[in-house]
Amino acid sequence: MTRIYPQFIVAKFGGTSVADFDAMNRSASIVLANPNVRLVVLSASAGVTNLLVELSEGLESHQQLDKLDTLRTIQYNIISRLKQPTVISKEIDNLLDNISRLAQTATVSPSAALSDELVSHGELMSSLLFTEVMRERGVESSWFDARSVIRTDSTHGCAEPQVSAVAELAETHLRPRIEQEIMITQGFIGRDANGRTTTLGRGGSDYTASLLGEALHAGRVDIWTDVAGIYTTDPRIAPNAKRIDSISFSEASDMAGYGAKVLHPATLLPAMRKNIPVFVGSSKDTAAGGTLVCCTTDNPPRYRAVAVRRKQTLLRLHRLDEQPSNRFLAQIFTLLAEHNVATDLVTTSESTIALALDSSNATSGEDHTLTTALFTALASHCRVEVETGLALVTLVGNQLTKELGVCNDVFSRLEEHAVRMICHGASHNNLCFLLPGDAADSAVKALHHRLFE
Ligand code: ASP
Ligand code: MG
Repeated sequence: MTRIYPQFIVAKFGGTSVADFDAMNRSASIVLANPNVRLVVLSASAGVTNLLVELSEGLESHQQLDKLDTLRTIQYNIISRLKQPTVISKEIDNLLDNISRLAQTATVSPSAALSDELVSHGELMSSLLFTEVMRERGVESSWFDARSVIRTDSTHGCAEPQVSAVAELAETHLRPRIEQEIMITQGFIGRDANGRTTTLGRGGSDYTASLLGEALHAGRVDIWTDVAGIYTTDPRIAPNAKRIDSISFSEASDMAGYGAKVLHPATLLPAMRKNIPVFVGSSKDTAAGGTLVCCTTDNPPRYRAVAVRRKQTLLRLHRLDEQPSNRFLAQIFTLLAEHNVATDLVTTSESTIALALDSSNATSGEDHTLTTALFTALASHCRVEVETGLALVTLVGNQLTKELGVCNDVFSRLEEHAVRMICHGASHNNLCFLLPGDAADSAVKALHHRLFE
């Protein structure tokens, strides 16, 4: 019999929620507790993607064996708790063999495409194991390869999904099936038009969940993680951080974009396009509640949260004397666009442009944006100064440019810090500044104390 679930829920479980057998079992209980959950999107088990990324960078053979061993242990700790381990062990062994083969190739000829192929195995394994956990609990559910619907461009490591293709593919291949049974799929991974595996950038499983939510017109997307919602700042930095019960799409997407770790930065875009509420909660403690991200909230506060984004690079471009000043900005931004360098923070003086570049999000560890070709091109227009290891701290709020005393509230707490760059005014709803990476925690603590405690 076909059941129709108009208000169905996409539930996404992060790495800690599928870290081991017990975590998978808890997550399975969450799925089973709500009959509207029809599509489950999973991350790789905690730690697995990091291991795979290291393998993809090409390791010495003894280090490689070490990592492969750790990976195998994580999988077998789960398999050994299953009632019928042999049902799935063969498939996992095959994937582990693939990983080993790809890791060897990576030592001779590493590439971003190879890296994506390799890291995709984390989600492939966790989703197979979870499907088996569900099956042993007697649930009608099936494993589904997300790559057959998540069509992306070919930017390996940080691929861009093609929204209308995803919608069409999901409608054809996924919709009919979620009406029959619970479908279990992978976050993070996709496929380009040439059939090659791609990834959406670190933490991209959240994004997959909302993309599929959008494609299938879900009533809600639930993101299950290891914290009970979105906090006023990272509680590991400021233990007095408070949980936010409800928050608007734009506030939450500012937080994610400026580094708050709870959601992948692009996650809320599909949700906003289709006005799908996103719930964030802890799979370890469902009773603790969580945060609902939706279109608007009552009484938006002046200050909402403090976010921090690490691994920032500051480029200072000093115009050469012989260069005409009136075309300097245009020339530099044309060059950056030609070299595919995106920046979201800029300040200028009469002869210098300062830009912050973000390298905290790509799947592979290094910053590939600063190429020799870019430096060569820049050198004919300006003298370049590069400062790495900075952190971007952002205060997210509402109508900050219209309120009095905001700058005083922020900077009077930061007397002990060398602030390297400040951006305020372009957005009404945030104020950001760069400072040395090792000062970020104490700056966030001080700001949070002043504004939220
Ligand atoms: N497994 C991927 C990562 O660790 C994607 C995700 O967990 O969302 O980045
Ligand atoms: Mg995550």
